[in-house]
Amino acid sequence: MRKLELHWKILIGMVLGLLFGYIMTGVEGGGTFVSNWIKPLGTIFVKLLKLIAIPLILASLVKGISDLKDISKFRNIGVRTIAIYMCTTLVAIVLGLLLVNIIQPGDGISEETITKLTDTYVNDSGVTSKLKTASMQKSKGPLQFLEDMVPDNAIAAMSNNRLMLQVIFFTIFLGISILLIGEKRAKPLKDFFDSLNDVVLKMVDLIMLTAPFAVFALLANVVVSAGDPELLVALLKYAGVVVLGLLIMIVFYGILVTVFTKKNPFWFLKQMSPAQLLAFSTSSSAATLPVTMERVEEHIGVDKEVSSFVLPVGATINMDGTSLYQGVAAVFIAQALAFDLPLSEQLTIVLTALLASIGTAAVPGAGMVMLVIVLESVNFPPEKLAIGLALIFAVDRPLDMFRTVVNITGDATVSMLVAKSVDKLGKPKPKNWDDHYEDVK
Ligand code: ASP
Repeated sequence: MRKLELHWKILIGMVLGLLFGYIMTGVEGGGTFVSNWIKPLGTIFVKLLKLIAIPLILASLVKGISDLKDISKFRNIGVRTIAIYMCTTLVAIVLGLLLVNIIQPGDGISEETITKLTDTYVNDSGVTSKLKTASMQKSKGPLQFLEDMVPDNAIAAMSNNRLMLQVIFFTIFLGISILLIGEKRAKPLKDFFDSLNDVVLKMVDLIMLTAPFAVFALLANVVVSAGDPELLVALLKYAGVVVLGLLIMIVFYGILVTVFTKKNPFWFLKQMSPAQLLAFSTSSSAATLPVTMERVEEHIGVDKEVSSFVLPVGATINMDGTSLYQGVAAVFIAQALAFDLPLSEQLTIVLTALLASIGTAAVPGAGMVMLVIVLESVNFPPEKLAIGLALIFAVDRPLDMFRTVVNITGDATVSMLVAKSVDKLGKPKPKNWDDHYEDVK
């Protein structure tokens, strides 16, 4: 029998999960059954991926930097990465704002729908917790993000997945210092991290064995915990604008890949598909990071010296899908609640959404927290913030799934561009059993 490739297996798991979730919504007690007996499988899978994220960043970034042999190369990669990330994010926000201004999804929405959405979600714990987190973020000064990037305790930083930037900072510092002490003295430490890197990548392979089952569980749970279908339909036009923008972003990445690396964009998307499907199922770029790294390095051929820096940094600071969504959502809320938002004010959105996407955590729903900050930047009345979030809450999870796919695809695209520009885009070197796990002995 022809062995199925990994992305097909994951896709089948997803479709079956959706169907199973749908059937369970019609069965008495089905929702509780899924959340008690099925959801934990998905949660365990996400936890396993997150579990190896920090060791992976540590091992691969140290290996990446110490293989460079020359710090000026690292500076080159660093500057290009940040510059290209800023550009793709700007494109995403401007595209989002263009679409929402042209299509105007908020104008046609009836008073009745607004009331219904508000009544259903304004006191929902999802909305209130997002407002609370946003108010904590906001009380920080302008340079706070720089301060936050520097840990005062390496072990403490490594003990918290949310402190990934601190771990990256520490690891870069460590990698550069290893480079500076000379090859001979650095050898034991370098060998240690090389070996750790191989081991962690093997852990990714092993975790991925369970991916088709895990996505089944994750998607079944998404379906049973979805809101009232009537409310979802009312937000179809808004969701359509976000999804359209996200699709255009994928086309944009395809163009970048074709123009700058001369690779076939469909080949690129096919190689990335397992990571994209996981991003869709988990809604978390951080959880997807180990798989994104594996695909980019082994299946696309980006050298570790580039990917080990570009991808972890991208997972934390480059969120094109999220920033596009923030632009669309902010203007949609303003349109629906008849809050005047002239174009000049929308320029503020460009800047805040850019900064907000840097500050957004790579976890489910984080984009909505930063949306509060974007809304506040245009002086949206604070007493109406909860209503604004309530308006879009019903479709936030599905949109989060789509925007996370774009977030990680953007990271992968930029890693290819940077690699090409420093001559580090080589031939893919997939391991035989990456797609055919039956071959694992
Ligand atoms: N879930 C997204 C991510 O992890 C962030 C967001 O848009 O909420 O990339």
